[in-house]
Amino acid sequence: MKPFGREMTSENNLGKTKPVVIRMLEALLFPKKCLKCGIYMEEDGVHPHTLESCFCGHCMKEGVHPITPPFCISCGIRFHNSFNENHVCGVCLKNPLKLGQVRAVAEYKGIIQDGIQLFKYHSKLSIAKIFEHLLFQTFLQHYDKLPIDLIMPMPLHRAKMRKRGFNQAYFLSRNFKKLYQHSFHRLPSWDMDMDSLVRIKKTLPQTGFDIEERKRNLKNAFKIIREDRIKAKHILLVDDVFTTGATCNEAAKELLKKGAKRVDALVLART
Ligand SMILES: [Zn+2]
Ligand SMILES: [Zn+2]
Repeated sequence: MKPFGREMTSENNLGKTKPVVIRMLEALLFPKKCLKCGIYMEEDGVHPHTLESCFCGHCMKEGVHPITPPFCISCGIRFHNSFNENHVCGVCLKNPLKLGQVRAVAEYKGIIQDGIQLFKYHSKLSIAKIFEHLLFQTFLQHYDKLPIDLIMPMPLHRAKMRKRGFNQAYFLSRNFKKLYQHSFHRLPSWDMDMDSLVRIKKTLPQTGFDIEERKRNLKNAFKIIREDRIKAKHILLVDDVFTTGATCNEAAKELLKKGAKRVDALVLART
């Protein structure tokens, strides 16, 4: 462990500080384990809000695969070719999305895929904060210059919420305002909205469905309960994974029908 020195405190994401001695005690009492393989990990020198603070070097070898150009300017899928220009993909040309644009942090593979599964299905909530930081960076990269009015985590149906115990999209964006204030020392021009959009239909799991079946499954799945709030607004939906986009697209359809000006999406991973 590092000796006491000039650096007597460590900074967390919101600028609060925790004395080094507390951190040392915590490390002794609750030694950190890799969330995937369970091996004990050294915490020295690892920034607390990085994937390296959750996964050991061996598991990190699976890597993160960020969405870098070229990608589809509509659905955000990454192109694996040498043509270096972003453009609209064939799927979007054939079936245009209701969403304006989708942007993702990374491809749904490697340690991001493992992390999402541990987070969602094994309630490893400690990783949520790290994912939120990554998502916030991608937000700044693609949405900071756009006139966004409202940010909405994708809602879960009541029954799903009861079963899982938490909404992953909410955990991925609940501190966005604080993160923004911490980065820019001012309030953002947008607001968070957690209750205007609700999911009213208990849908079947989308796995194994083709695009048309997914659309049918999700038909009328969402309801706007605060129409006054969304009228003429530019809305950004937040979700964990975007596959065909049927879920976000159905929510966008409902929002636009009820008067929203434009709906985009920000997701952690793109399959
Ligand atoms: Zn590991
Ligand atoms: Zn596309």
